[in-house]
Amino acid sequence: MTEKKCKECAMMIPAEAKTCPHCRKPQGWTTCAKVGLGAILIIFIPVLMNIGKPTSPSKHADPYSAPRGACRMALEKTLHDPGSAEFDLGSNWYVETRKDGTILVQPKLRAKNAFGAYRYVTYNCIVKPEGENIRVLSLKQIN
Ligand SMILES: [Zn+2]
Repeated sequence: MTEKKCKECAMMIPAEAKTCPHCRKPQGWTTCAKVGLGAILIIFIPVLMNIGKPTSPSKHADPYSAPRGACRMALEKTLHDPGSAEFDLGSNWYVETRKDGTILVQPKLRAKNAFGAYRYVTYNCIVKPEGENIRVLSLKQIN
């Protein structure tokens, strides 16, 4: 006959004993363990169900990627020397949707000015989504 250790009093008891003959402690899953296991399942089942679901296309991951792209293109057209422009990562550009439905984007870049010197500049770029297209309403250097 195999034996196991009582969880409560650590005496050796029959492996199939449901309660300890010494201290009467039930030997199944403790309530604490059951609650813990239940909590783990509740947390992980939704996670597991999400695995394998197709992820949304990346263009929908950032709703502002199109406005940022439109501002970047507009900027490149206005720059003295577009080839010299070094854009900060577009995802760092401040973006907000305004009350009138237009979107304010603040592109930041390091560009060569008319005198050939590099400087950091920030722009206010206001765009308006029109269906699949983004219309640039204004583009103004703010510093
Ligand atoms: Zn015991």
